[in-house]
Amino acid sequence: MRLHWHRRDLRATDNRGLTADEGPTVPVFVFDRDVLAHAGPPRVAFLLDALASLRTWYRERGSDLLVVEGDPAERLADLVDEHDADTVSWCRDYSGLARQRDQRVEAALGDAVTVDRVHDALLHEPGTITTNGGETYSVFSYFGKKWLDRAKDDPVESPSSGDLAPVSGGDLPTLESLGFGEPEATVPAAGTDAARRRLDAFCADAIYRYADQRDYPACGDRDEASGCTSRLSSHLKFGTIGIREVYAATDEAWAAAETETERDSVTEFQRQLAWREFYAHVLSNQPGLVTENFKTYEHEIAWRDDTEGLRAWKNGETGYPIVDAGMRQLRDEAWMHNRVRMLVASFLTKDLLIDWREGYDWFREKLVDHDTANDVGGWQWAASTGTDAQPYFRVFNPMTQGERYDPDAEYVTQYVPELRDVPAHQIHRWHELDVAERRDLAPAYPDPIVDHAEARERALAAFEAASDGS
Ligand SMILES: Cc1cc2nc3c(=O)[nH]c(=O)nc-3n(C[C@H](O)[C@H](O)[C@H](O)COP(=O)(O)OP(=O)(O)OC[C@H]3O[C@@H](n4cnc5c(N)ncnc54)[C@H](O)[C@@H]3O)c2cc1C
Repeated sequence: MRLHWHRRDLRATDNRGLTADEGPTVPVFVFDRDVLAHAGPPRVAFLLDALASLRTWYRERGSDLLVVEGDPAERLADLVDEHDADTVSWCRDYSGLARQRDQRVEAALGDAVTVDRVHDALLHEPGTITTNGGETYSVFSYFGKKWLDRAKDDPVESPSSGDLAPVSGGDLPTLESLGFGEPEATVPAAGTDAARRRLDAFCADAIYRYADQRDYPACGDRDEASGCTSRLSSHLKFGTIGIREVYAATDEAWAAAETETERDSVTEFQRQLAWREFYAHVLSNQPGLVTENFKTYEHEIAWRDDTEGLRAWKNGETGYPIVDAGMRQLRDEAWMHNRVRMLVASFLTKDLLIDWREGYDWFREKLVDHDTANDVGGWQWAASTGTDAQPYFRVFNPMTQGERYDPDAEYVTQYVPELRDVPAHQIHRWHELDVAERRDLAPAYPDPIVDHAEARERALAAFEAASDGS
């Protein structure tokens, strides 16, 4: 008998952890309070929905997903005894905390139990794409090229009923029983069927325009299965769809493309999947990056302590329209467009000169797709402390970025209703207007909390001082 411990692989299809020969398999999920400690209601709601889908899949095949709560080391050891299992399998998770937890679990299971740690979450495991000297890459470009050139594994078969143990589990916990309130945000549907609908719709159409459209946050309809980006991030975070299946669908789209431009667009999307793996490799090699800067400055960066600025940023009340739209999209949808993530992260770390770790903590709580490696990677990039980081002297101007990527202010006005009646060109000049003009145009919308030009100079001075100590 074998237990398979589902963690970030909440699916039965294209799951390498479920393909081992030692069966029959008892599928298990453990609600670990340590993992839930930093999650907000939207992420937990998505997780519960994903578990409900997975459980249905098993029940339709005469088995069930056993869902227990507590310390995985204790609960898995109990389940091994209860089901007389000789093997426990799980799919590898590469973050430092997950690895420490897995070592504890392995020790608790003891020598009599075989532990099968399976490579599943990435197409190429950490350690398999390195510099010629065997080092982990610290810049993306060479990594990305090697990653794209490597052959990819095909999706794997789902287990059949005969591979599954005829167990029966109890009820799933609820948000309330886990100590969470109802989410303020609209949470997308979880589960493999929902993920496949997104993937199929995206690969049938939007993937061919992805390279041109991915930077425009107003592009696409958030209620449609397909927008201008895939919106697969929450599914990839929880593993409700397998990465091999995603990649195979993009390969099919590539083969069906009719022009070179369309093929390039598909490749651009595949490159984003490579970024996800790049950050996983970097974090696996340096687990301390969750709290420490990747790039060493000669002196500490003099981050500011600015409670009021941080509050305004979190609430989407900075008086910089595209920044506020992004922060409110996060509140409303527990997701934010990538271009706007870059802008809000730059605004926090440069315009407000607030430590990136404050922003990371907020995203970790609010995002459904929070993924330690991608989130740390994105934050450190924006803060000029990470791999491939934005050089510190390149500070995004939130007004010109808004003008360029949201020219008609469609995105801004979708999330900032106070500005709905303000013409786009005024929105993009908000911080240049005088107070009387602002009051007249949108009395309820705040004045800018900082002057971008002055804030930029302050950030440059702080980073220069950190660089050379002057
Ligand atoms: C400050 C900051 C924080 C971020 N935090 C997260 C996070 O917690 N979780 C997360 O999945 N992504 C994060 N990202 C990366 C990116 O914003 C999201 O992956 C993307 O917006 C998700 O939307 P999508 O699925 O429609 O992406 P698509 O454009 O459709 O991309 C497809 C997939 O590729 C991966 N991907 C795309 N862009 C990136 C990137 N820049 N870095 C790593 N992987 C990428 C994701 O898995 C994504 O689902 C962050 C970026 C920044 C700047």
